[in-house]
Amino acid sequence: MELLGLFPEEIKEWLQSHGIPAFRGDQIFSWLHKHAVERFEQMTNVPGDVILRLQEAFGTPWPLELAARRRSLDGTEKYLFALKDQTTIETVYLPEEERQTVCLSTQVGCAMNCSFCATGQSGYVRNLSAAEIVTQVLWLEHQLRAFGKSITNVVYMGMGEPLANYGAVLRSAHLLNHPQGRNLGARRLTISTCGLVPQIRALANEELQVNLAVSLHAVTDADRSRIMPVNRRFPLQELLQACDYYTQQTNRRISYEYALIGGVNDSLAAAHRLRQLLQGRLCHVNLIPINPVGTERRPSMAKVAQFAKVLEEGRVPVSIRKERGTDIEAACGQLRQTQLQE
Ligand code: SF4
Repeated sequence: MELLGLFPEEIKEWLQSHGIPAFRGDQIFSWLHKHAVERFEQMTNVPGDVILRLQEAFGTPWPLELAARRRSLDGTEKYLFALKDQTTIETVYLPEEERQTVCLSTQVGCAMNCSFCATGQSGYVRNLSAAEIVTQVLWLEHQLRAFGKSITNVVYMGMGEPLANYGAVLRSAHLLNHPQGRNLGARRLTISTCGLVPQIRALANEELQVNLAVSLHAVTDADRSRIMPVNRRFPLQELLQACDYYTQQTNRRISYEYALIGGVNDSLAAAHRLRQLLQGRLCHVNLIPINPVGTERRPSMAKVAQFAKVLEEGRVPVSIRKERGTDIEAACGQLRQTQLQE
C-alpha cells in the first residue's frame, strides 16, 4: 500500500486501524497532495508520534526519486525517475507563458509496440500505481513552489498506454482533482490512448470531464496496423464509433493526434482521407512532426503546412504542435532507452 494513492477516507481507515484519530487523515491528505511535502516531518500540525508511525509504515511519502535530468534550450525539462523496484520512467515538464504542463508516464515500458516509439520498442515491464502517477505531478509542484509557480495542466501522454492501466489512471485523475488536494479541474487533465475501444467506452460513462486524446497516426487500416499493432484488434471504424460515443456522453471535443512520419503517412492523399474521416465530428487534430526514432524521419515543415491546409479547407480544426525539447531526447522513451543502453 502506498499512502499517496489513498483518498482521505482510506487514510482515515488506516489511521483508525492503528489507533490514531481519524481527523488526522484530512490533514495528512492535504499535506501530501496540496502542499506536496517530500518528508513526513514537514507536516507541522501532525504530532511526532503519528509522523513516526507513518515513517515506520511507509518510509517516505514519494515512491520515486530523481535519477537523471535534462534541460532543453527551449525550457522543456525531462526527468528520469527511479521507482522502488529500480525500474525507471520518464516525465516531461513543458513550461509556457500562461501554463505549466506535465506529461506523465502511466506504465514502465509499453506493450502496444507502435513502430515510431522508443518506449514501445523497449517492451512492457509493469503498470504504475496511482501513487507513482500522481507523485510525478507532486514532485514537480514541489520544485516549482520555489519559483512561485505550480502545475496548471496534466497530460497522460508519457510512457505507456494510459487506458491499459485504467484503474490506476482513473484513481490518479480523481486524486489530482480532489478538492482537499491539488484540486486540478478535470478539464485540465488530458488522457491519451492509442485506441483501446472498450476502455474509451468505459471512460465515457465515468462522468469525469477529462479531455481525451486519441492517437490516430494513419488513415487506412492497412497503414495503421503496420505502425500501430493495436489497430488489428480495434480497426479505425470501430475506434471512431467509440470516439463518437465518448463525444455523445461527455459533449467533449476529442483531440486526434497525428504524428507525421516522412514518407509513411504525410502524403496529401492521406491528408484528404483524414479530412474525410473527421469532417463533421466534434474534434481537433494535432499534427506532430515526429522526433526521429530508428529509421523514421521527420517530414519537411512545408509538407506539414500543406497537410494542415487540406484539413483547414475541410473545416477540420487543426494545429501543428510546436516541437519541444528535441535537443534532450524528449520523444517518449528516448532518455530511458539511452540510460538502459548505458
Ligand atoms: S506511442 Fe504510446 S501506446 Fe504506442 S508504444 Fe509508445 S507509449 Fe505505447
